[in-house]
Amino acid sequence: MKILLVASEVAPIIKIGGLGDVAGALPKALEKLTVGSRGGSKNSNEPVNIDVIVPFFPSAKTQGLEVYKSMELNVPFDTGTHTVGVYKTKLPNSNVDVILLYNAEYFSGGGTSFFAKNISETEMFTFFDRAVVEYIKAGLNFYDIVHCNDWHTGLITHLLEDELPGDRPKTLFTIHNLMYQGVGDRNLVKEVGIVPGEHPLVDWDVEDGDINMMQQGITSCDYLSTVSPSYAEEILTPEFGGEFYEILQNRAGRLSGILNGVDYSAFPRSYNLENWQEGKKKAKEELLKKLGLAGDSALERPIFSFIGRIDPNQKGIDLILEAIPEIVKKGGTFVLLGTGVKEWENKLLELAKSYGDKKCISINTSFDMKLADLIYSGSDFLVVPSKYEPCGLIQMIALWYGTLPIVHQVGGLKDTIFQGKNGFSFEKYSVDDFSQAIAEAFKTYYDKSTLNKMIEGALNEDFSWDKSAGKYLELYERMLAES
Ligand code: ADP
Repeated sequence: MKILLVASEVAPIIKIGGLGDVAGALPKALEKLTVGSRGGSKNSNEPVNIDVIVPFFPSAKTQGLEVYKSMELNVPFDTGTHTVGVYKTKLPNSNVDVILLYNAEYFSGGGTSFFAKNISETEMFTFFDRAVVEYIKAGLNFYDIVHCNDWHTGLITHLLEDELPGDRPKTLFTIHNLMYQGVGDRNLVKEVGIVPGEHPLVDWDVEDGDINMMQQGITSCDYLSTVSPSYAEEILTPEFGGEFYEILQNRAGRLSGILNGVDYSAFPRSYNLENWQEGKKKAKEELLKKLGLAGDSALERPIFSFIGRIDPNQKGIDLILEAIPEIVKKGGTFVLLGTGVKEWENKLLELAKSYGDKKCISINTSFDMKLADLIYSGSDFLVVPSKYEPCGLIQMIALWYGTLPIVHQVGGLKDTIFQGKNGFSFEKYSVDDFSQAIAEAFKTYYDKSTLNKMIEGALNEDFSWDKSAGKYLELYERMLAES
């Protein structure tokens, strides 16, 4: 089975967000499997051979990797033909081929900022989609499935239909976050070479003056998936599916929800199920010291934390702001590590300032993976009050460290955290419901036998990629079984 996974990033070479983690970890887990090993109809020893293709952004970290140029493509786009260098390397510690597409004009942005000089993000990825299809053609069309990810890859199915009519690979389009859609100028359709009148879905979309690449991906692909079973159901409703809920309802028979996994090797942990009591205590001491919160009875008081993007539209930052004074009043300590919308970062920093030198709150607006590890391991609870959450990684990472998540019951949070077993959850997105869950966490904190049982429940969870990769393989097999 030959799969080409197309994405805008792949960790650790190009890492911008969670999508990069998926593109870097899923192929490594898939290449360990063989077709039929998950109980499908065809039991063969055929390996799962998966390549990953991404733009070769200048920010790509290739030090220590063997990168070689394999060929050049001529990619027609706009009024000219553009040369794209095809570079190849391997994902570290694997046999997975990574194909890096190089073009100085179109892929000169990337990294933390996608924006190149005069090229919009949507133009960059429209060009990328065309280059990917030219690569597939140049490789004599040998992939069975092209696995597209998010809006960046939204035009690929149409282009495959045009360029390889009657013989194109099957396509899967995975939605990682429906709210980021890639809305671009309608002229991009012409520039990429999609002929007006050939694709009714495109004609219908551009009538309002622009092209929505997420919409194109959703409507044109053969199969659809998203990153948790609950989010797959939620996006069929107006509340979570927004303008796409009806389109998604029409395609529900072809939509699956497969939970993302965690690459545990990226999260070092100095304790396990046997010695966690000692390990977590040490980590808590270290964390308090590092953040200047040590002293008095700090070690005895519960630490509530948050790690993530300061995005008030998604991450429940408004609820967090309301909850902090209550956590402090009840005798807890609050720690936050996150970057994002400046206005909300400032609100959090000001709140911290209002406590003077009371050593009960620490707000860190930086991106610091080492500090994140220490917060995960040294905290007692991790708050995740997201308004919506396609999958969410932080709650699964917290479990790995024996830190109990307090989550809003949505999306992937609902699929991974179970009230009273491995964490706490609240149903309605409101300050009251969130506060109640926090109050319950406090109660549990002082009831050591329940607390210890829950921590052990958390440490026992397994959200490794192996399980999720098996589910993707089942889906690929289902796609190929269909004529
Ligand atoms: P997102 O919606 O941003 O993908 P996730 O919960 O799925 O949210 O994943 C967030 C990931 O990014 C986690 O691995 C988390 O530890 C990491 N992370 C987020 N913000 C920071 C930060 N400021 N410093 C270090 N790591 C961070």
